[in-house]
Amino acid sequence: MGTNKPVIKYTKLFINNEFVDAASGKTFPTINPSTGTVITHVSEGDKADVDKAVAAAKKAFARNSPWRTMDASARAKLMHKLADLMERDIDYLASIETLDNGKTFADSKGDISASIECLRYYAGWCDKIHGQTIPADGGFFSMTRKEPVGVVGQIIPWNYPIMMTAWKWGPALAAGCTIVLKPAEQTPLSALCLAALTKEAGFPAGVINVVNGFGPTAGAAIAEHFDIRKVAFTGSTEIGHLIMQAAGRTNLKRVSLELGGKSPLIVCEDADIKEAADIAHHALFDNHGQSCCAGSRTFVHAKVYDQFVKEAKELATKRKVGDPFSDGTDQGPQIDQDMYDKVMGLIESGKQEGATLVTGGKRVGNAGYFIEPTVFGNVTDEMKIAKEEIFGPVQSIFKFNDIEEAIERANKTSYGLAAGIITKDIDKALAFAKAVDAGSIWINGYDLLTAHTPFGGFKMSGIGRELGEEGLHEYLEVKTITIRTNA
Ligand code: ADP
Repeated sequence: MGTNKPVIKYTKLFINNEFVDAASGKTFPTINPSTGTVITHVSEGDKADVDKAVAAAKKAFARNSPWRTMDASARAKLMHKLADLMERDIDYLASIETLDNGKTFADSKGDISASIECLRYYAGWCDKIHGQTIPADGGFFSMTRKEPVGVVGQIIPWNYPIMMTAWKWGPALAAGCTIVLKPAEQTPLSALCLAALTKEAGFPAGVINVVNGFGPTAGAAIAEHFDIRKVAFTGSTEIGHLIMQAAGRTNLKRVSLELGGKSPLIVCEDADIKEAADIAHHALFDNHGQSCCAGSRTFVHAKVYDQFVKEAKELATKRKVGDPFSDGTDQGPQIDQDMYDKVMGLIESGKQEGATLVTGGKRVGNAGYFIEPTVFGNVTDEMKIAKEEIFGPVQSIFKFNDIEEAIERANKTSYGLAAGIITKDIDKALAFAKAVDAGSIWINGYDLLTAHTPFGGFKMSGIGRELGEEGLHEYLEVKTITIRTNA
């Protein structure tokens, strides 16, 4: 069972399998978004702490270290053990996540279950990572080895704190890397709980380190570190630029980026409109609209537009906003005051630019950062709400007349994370899938994410892929070994 008063066991930095204070002794508050009040203070890591964590990770990665000499199947066992411990503690972890992030308790549990699946999926890869033998010209015997890239830095956002940690740790650990993770400053608590579980599971000291802190200090220290061989970042496109620049300025560390989106979902005239409205509703409102792949541009065929808007309104109106710990709550608060202000500002811009406010648009209650599920109709491509990532519970519905037009408009964005189409015409769906520049295309559903399938962005939505086999390769180097032989 969930509790909104879980015991906060861990607030320090996790370096070399120990919880330690920040070198500066500084702490920062983490806020409960449901109330706007301080939950607790956590250690504020900075460059000095990142240096310490990287040194521990480097030592853990050294030749002949326990981690480097461990059988790959033993690495898998450790990962399964971590997954087992997360299963054991799921209610506690979900309580911490909901308290710190504001997502519903049921959603936190769902995220943790998906995280467990992700870790188990990658555990399965550990002893299946291998190279090739190659019939090279010249009488050579050539083979490739897949080796871990080394110490990796991982910087994650606040919208799925546990799941982003699992997406990052799964492939990195399977590959045999060592890790310095920086959680988002809005949600520092759950990654510390996971860190404690890695120690309990038996991971050697230094393999996993967690340094909480702010982006321009702790985050930048990771992005610029000369001993970090790869940085994996999930967050805004704006900061994605900075991460890449930092890598370019310093040691050309490998970079993978999972950034913003403005993903289209196309509802064709042959769709079952009730079902389509339900898919589109969840595509946008799940996680309070705070998903990089949210279906934030709903394109509906003119012939079914009015019926669709009616259904969309009904679903949004029914959506229950409130205490994320209460049974039956669909939507908790937005993450913080900044995001609340940003979303309310964009709602205002939608009204001013002439979109039709179908429902919502107001604050809920007077404490915390709750916003009514909001639906705009008659949205046109030039409006701010059509172009900017809102990251809040605001559905924008556009009208289209034929599929070619929909494809063209779907692609009219600098993002390319995901896209969806709802139709009974499989040829139309596949033509759409081929034509749209996005990393994931979902047909007759949305957010059809699994640990087995790669996820990531075209264009300014990112570089590289997470999940699936592709996600693993981001953490591997290829070494070619060639033997001159007369055999
Ligand atoms: P969001 O808009 O979702 O908060 P951000 O891109 O601002 O996304 O933050 C995502 C993560 O990036 C957080 O962990 C944040 O602390 C970190 N971050 C922010 N600024 C920087 C920076 N200059 N260098 C490195 N990391 C940063």
